[in-house]
Amino acid sequence: MVKIEKLKETKDKITFSIDGINSTIANSIRRSTFEIEVLAIDLVEFYKNDSALYDEMIALRLGLLPLKAPKSFTRRGDCSCKEKGCLKCTASFKLKAEGPGTVYSKELKAKGCDIVFEEMPLVILAKDQELELTAEAYLGSAIEHTKFLPGLVWFRSNAVINLTKDTESYTDLVNICPKRAIISKGSKIEIDSLKCDLCECCIEYCNEKNKKPLDLKASEDSFTMFIESFGQLEPKELFIESLNIIDKNLDEVAKAVKKLK
Ligand SMILES: [Zn+2]
Repeated sequence: MVKIEKLKETKDKITFSIDGINSTIANSIRRSTFEIEVLAIDLVEFYKNDSALYDEMIALRLGLLPLKAPKSFTRRGDCSCKEKGCLKCTASFKLKAEGPGTVYSKELKAKGCDIVFEEMPLVILAKDQELELTAEAYLGSAIEHTKFLPGLVWFRSNAVINLTKDTESYTDLVNICPKRAIISKGSKIEIDSLKCDLCECCIEYCNEKNKKPLDLKASEDSFTMFIESFGQLEPKELFIESLNIIDKNLDEVAKAVKKLK
């Protein structure tokens, strides 16, 4: 049975331990984030750019702005407008700025979506320098371009520790563990398996001192998962979206298999 325990949660990051899955499934969840569709600026038209940055540089920076699309948004290719661009598939932007000063993301006038972070610096303009552009954003996935990646998902195996009954001789390891995963309990020790990242400093130390090393290994069915969002989705949503994508992909495989004659 799958068991999940939340370890830490902030606005843009969630960490939990998950038991009862194997590394193949954990890795599929991680990889499926590349198929989540989010909005990003993909077309920029410049009317004026007196800044020190080339048009391409500014366009690249604009492409990396996290944007929130309405749930009803569709991919441009799947839209009924047949790629002409409409409110269901295209968000548009206008920017007109004059120096001196830094141009921030909040100065972009967006139509059809929200800019997640308002204080992202785009370019610095000197006195009398001007920047004028329009841009369009579409839905896409990180398979096409990394700017469509909604966040990062990574995981590591939790530690499995078999402590012998006699742990008195290991109390010196409390100060050796860089993660402070080894805790002293009176004359014995205990190990916080969630803090332990299997760096094996304790094993190296035991080997140096010619002591029997702790019985420590990576679990094959217990992991700590880290999900960090870039702002387009809540971290938990990002995880669920990854699961939905696995589901959808497997459904398609099942359908194809059923059609086999
Ligand atoms: Zn459309």
